[in-house]
Amino acid sequence: MYSVELRDATKRYPGGGAEPVIALDDVDFAVEPGEFVAVVGPSGSGKSTLLNVLGLLDDPTEGRRHLDGTDVTSLSVAERTAARKESIGFVFQDFHLLPTLTAVENVALPTAFDPGDASERAADLLSRFGLGDRLDHEPSELSGGQKQRVAIARSLINEPAVLLADEPTGNLDTETGESILAEFERVKEEGVAVVAVTHDPLVEGFADRVVELTDGVLVGGVPNGDEEGEKSTPIDRTAPAPEDR
Ligand code: ADP
Ligand code: MG
Repeated sequence: MYSVELRDATKRYPGGGAEPVIALDDVDFAVEPGEFVAVVGPSGSGKSTLLNVLGLLDDPTEGRRHLDGTDVTSLSVAERTAARKESIGFVFQDFHLLPTLTAVENVALPTAFDPGDASERAADLLSRFGLGDRLDHEPSELSGGQKQRVAIARSLINEPAVLLADEPTGNLDTETGESILAEFERVKEEGVAVVAVTHDPLVEGFADRVVELTDGVLVGGVPNGDEEGEKSTPIDRTAPAPEDR
């Protein structure tokens, strides 16, 4: 069973009278528990759309979507909210931290309507990310890299089956980037499927599989040996990189 899976998924945006934009074009994508997949591709190739569709923030126009063994192709708003909370951790490119909350409060925020107090777990997660001395700082008192680590800690508070991250090392120096990636390795060893959109060769180096999007077409989207994914072939990472990376 895959942690998250798309089959024949197409996403079309209305083009406002003109041709519709095909942001995802008949995509097969599947990630196993404990697998770390990096998604690369030029700007506008559909990377954010792919993450949004995987993370139940947006629906495919056509095709099927499964999460943790459940068909989640079309859900009611309530079902979607529950499924996201149960199974998805999302690290947004611009973090989406609330400015008036401290680091601990931001990390604990996804548990706000649950019984009990998650502050201790939030503080533990922040400590794991080297922010044990910044627990009560607000986002305006944190550097870009520190905010990013708060966002990653928050994505893990509900112990997701799938962790989705848009440019997770984008604001980080190499050393901090490596410590984040080491943390992703730990998370995936616990069986979490990690999908990261990236331009960072460091992330590609850590990934179990690198898949490439070009104009909404995904290459290498399913693991080798998956018969349903025959039309996908692994991409040649020795080929020269496209200019627009
Ligand atoms: P990337 O993250 O790789 O830069 P996106 O997934 O953001 O690419 O966008 C893929 C394509 O879909 C682009 O052509 C973009 O202009 C278009 N697109 C993205 N979001 C929308 C939207 N909400 N409405 C219309 N077109 C969109
Ligand atoms: Mg994007």
